[in-house]
Amino acid sequence: MKYKPYSLHNFRQIPQIKFLSEEQKFEIEVVGTVLPFKTDNYVVDELIDWTSFEDDPFFILNFPQKDMLDEASYNKIASLLKNNSPSKVVQEEVKKIRLKLNPNPAGQESNVPEFEGEKLTGIQHKYREIMLFFPTQGQTCHAYCTFCFRWPQFALNDFKFAMKEADTMVRYLKANPQITDVLFTGGDPAIMKTRFFEEYFNALIDADLPNLKNIRIGTKSLAYWPYRYTTDEDADDLLRLFEKVKKSGINIAMMAHFNHPGELKTEAVQEAIRRLIAAGVQIRSQSPLLRNINDSADIWAENWQEQVRQGIVPYYMFVARDTGAQDYFAVTLNRAWQIYRKAFSKVSGICRTVKGPSMSCSPGKVNVVGISEIKGEKVFVLNFLQGRDPNWVGKPFFAKYDPNAIWIDDLEPAFGENEFFYEDSYYELQA
Ligand SMILES: *Cc1c(COP(=O)(O)O)cnc(C)c1O
Ligand code: SF4
Repeated sequence: MKYKPYSLHNFRQIPQIKFLSEEQKFEIEVVGTVLPFKTDNYVVDELIDWTSFEDDPFFILNFPQKDMLDEASYNKIASLLKNNSPSKVVQEEVKKIRLKLNPNPAGQESNVPEFEGEKLTGIQHKYREIMLFFPTQGQTCHAYCTFCFRWPQFALNDFKFAMKEADTMVRYLKANPQITDVLFTGGDPAIMKTRFFEEYFNALIDADLPNLKNIRIGTKSLAYWPYRYTTDEDADDLLRLFEKVKKSGINIAMMAHFNHPGELKTEAVQEAIRRLIAAGVQIRSQSPLLRNINDSADIWAENWQEQVRQGIVPYYMFVARDTGAQDYFAVTLNRAWQIYRKAFSKVSGICRTVKGPSMSCSPGKVNVVGISEIKGEKVFVLNFLQGRDPNWVGKPFFAKYDPNAIWIDDLEPAFGENEFFYEDSYYELQA
């Protein structure tokens, strides 16, 4: 299958776009001017059900929706476009709106390590055992998710984290023997040609690092371009490279991003999953919980069951981040926990490998373990699944119950305490 991307400048050429009114096309143009917009022929032809596109999860996940901007911002851009304002004027307005949408959440800039006197812009190292690597060639995606927190990387170039050399990565790993995992991320690293993967992976294999146990690839490609592993011209070479990594004694894990069971149903994705597993790749799945997309226990239970049937291990359920179109997708922490719990209770133990709901915030990955009542006070029970300081992990702590809370910033310590247990040492680490 030949890859065909669509974005703001050519989406009117999509044959199925005839189902949209002129008004709906204009809405895509307005919102797509502010938020990144890109989709592809697989999403358009095989995932979206165009007979009811307005409610279709894949349409909403790829095509900008009017309500993803607040009314004032929407009206401002709409009137600029209607009046054919010069692009410089439009871009100035766009920039202002984007900066209001928290383009760099969870303190990502503080994850960038200093090494040999320099800031390593292509590496983030937040959790002791795991290094994130942002290969330069992997900083875009086959299609853009409208909820994505990486959106400023596509929209605002100055927030781009990327790096060229495999060499620096290897030296950083040698200097930091506590690291067991390298996670390739982006954008979407699977957008890279196999020859770039070869450059990076061969460097890791040849370095023969005793500490390196897992190479992980965080990717949406199985859901949005499964042909990467079947008919793309360098698909077979990529699978052979994965086999080589595995044979060298390093585990290779794909952190696959699946939002909805519909993404697991096409012949193309099932074939890609079979081929990856046959090449020795372990596939794990993760997704945020998103209103208007997957905010029901039945959807999650079906997703996990179908994943496990195809050999995938359910891994994380995330709370939608506090960035971009968060208001459109946000689910309260209370509901997130109810959905997780209900879905978890519907599936057999083999699917219950999934952790969540988890907030990836600046101090760490905070799990909403549940809602409880302790000595007359209703509380959220929370727990770090990952922490900037590993000592925080696995110690339950408590926040005042708040039915409207959607993110950690909305929470206050329970029992009249002034701060959460980790805050002192967190501020020290930050300083
Ligand atoms: C989630 C995440 C990881 C991976 O953590 P695991 O719990 O091992 O999957 C690594 N680095 C950052 C910054 C993360 O947010
Ligand atoms: S594929 Fe990943 S990085 Fe790319 S837009 Fe979607 S969530 Fe963001």
